[in-house]
Amino acid sequence: MNPDAGLALGRAGSLFVGGHWVDPGARRPVIDPATGTAFAEFPWGGREHVRAAFAAAEAAAEAWRSLPAKNRSALLNAVADRLEAQTAAMARTITAENGKPLSQAKAEVAMSVDHLRWFAEEGKRVYGRWVPNQVVGKRHLIVKTPVGPIGAIAPWNFPLGLAVRKVAPALAAGCPVVLKPATPTPLSCLAFAAMAEEAGLPAGTLSVVTGSGADVGAEMLSNPLCRKITFTGSTEVGRLLIAGAAASIKPLSLELGGHAPLLVFADADIDRAVEGVLAAKFRNTGQSCIAANRIYVDRAILPRFIEAFVGRTRALVVGQGTDPGVEIGPLIDEAALAKALDHIADARAHGAKILCGGQRIDRPGFFLAPTVMVDVPAGAVCLRDETFAPVAPVMPFDSEDEAIARANDSAYGLAAYAFTRDLGRTLRLAERLTAGTLGINDGVPAVSSCPFGGVGQSGWGRELGTEGLDAFVNTKHVSITEDV
Ligand code: NAP
Repeated sequence: MNPDAGLALGRAGSLFVGGHWVDPGARRPVIDPATGTAFAEFPWGGREHVRAAFAAAEAAAEAWRSLPAKNRSALLNAVADRLEAQTAAMARTITAENGKPLSQAKAEVAMSVDHLRWFAEEGKRVYGRWVPNQVVGKRHLIVKTPVGPIGAIAPWNFPLGLAVRKVAPALAAGCPVVLKPATPTPLSCLAFAAMAEEAGLPAGTLSVVTGSGADVGAEMLSNPLCRKITFTGSTEVGRLLIAGAAASIKPLSLELGGHAPLLVFADADIDRAVEGVLAAKFRNTGQSCIAANRIYVDRAILPRFIEAFVGRTRALVVGQGTDPGVEIGPLIDEAALAKALDHIADARAHGAKILCGGQRIDRPGFFLAPTVMVDVPAGAVCLRDETFAPVAPVMPFDSEDEAIARANDSAYGLAAYAFTRDLGRTLRLAERLTAGTLGINDGVPAVSSCPFGGVGQSGWGRELGTEGLDAFVNTKHVSITEDV
């Protein structure tokens, strides 16, 4: 047993349901992607635990929504304080279960703390409004009320950060939450539950149930106490939730897949652009929904860009996330590695040239050598489907119009990037690129204070920013006639 798992497992490897640590009897192993071996176990819950969690959430809902926003804010800040104080241990837990370099795991903890603090403040500003009357003797109020108990389903790529991105605004808005972490990465969310308990979050306001996504999702869809589902994960599972929600018209917020284009224009500072591309492509070992999947470079600077980019990519330090200086960790599992190798093989079969990487690294775990490919033809699978790996296809373009057309040629629309020093072009790109987030000379654009989400098959709704609370409140019009 890895000593860090002790932090994560909270109370003897149990689920956190309605303020109690519940042993479901069953356990599953947690695999370290850097070794391919199990290093801990986690509790395996079922639909009955989800039901119990929603019953507790419903019981807690009235008191939680009635608590002054200032008090909810203080509790969220107390959770943030605990998480911040345990940054090192939480980061080791994230690295152990997800594989990412420790420095990036620490950044994920810092991002989670920031989300908690942002929504602790923003929750105080869930304003309604007083609308001028149209008829003498009437008044119109618009009030925002909490949606009620929320089902939150999180992915494994930012196992803590993307869970907190749901939990923090829901709690701030006055909604209890039942959180389901992804199966490969259950430990950081269980550890987070222990911190929330220590911080004094009332019983039932946050439950964490690990178990099969299909089972937990089915219970959330059918359980009338679950008023809404907020989901981050694949477009494929998003589709299943949309289909499943049809019967009850269960509201959904969906943060789904992406296929971000990245444009490098001839007027860009090439060295800074290369650093930006490295961040946008290789952060989290390419396993990010906003990872740059298609890199289009102005033909005039292509040779210089390629030389600098391949040089920097070859120099990236690959290894176990806990080793000092590591920049690229393993992929999450064997299937993720096989998918990346398939995408590379498909591109090669279509005539692409591999300039570096392109193969599995001969060591335990699920390591892929960071890969740069050129001459990737339009039909290649990697230009259409998410590779979710450190694989960078680079293609030339000849005009701004062509670059925009190729960037927008995708069913997804989560993020896009461009590197340019031309202000006019920046404004045109801001208007014309199809994406929820656009990074201009910025490879890491997401922040707590700005909305994040997609268009097209990247999903419905927005997280973060002032918009991040919208998902968790209903808008009500109250029309009042004077008592005459
Ligand atoms: P996934 O396979 O869709 O799983 C995401 C979550 O859904 C997991 O907790 C999973 O549980 C659960 N799940 C699986 N089947 C389900 C079902 N039938 N009903 C309800 N829940 C179900 O995605 P992933 O592989 O973890 O994450 C990678 C994907 O997420 C990529 O496509 C990436 O682009 C996307 N993503 C999007 C964003 C965004 O903000 N837009 C952010 C990060 C990632 P189990 O693990 O138990 O199966």
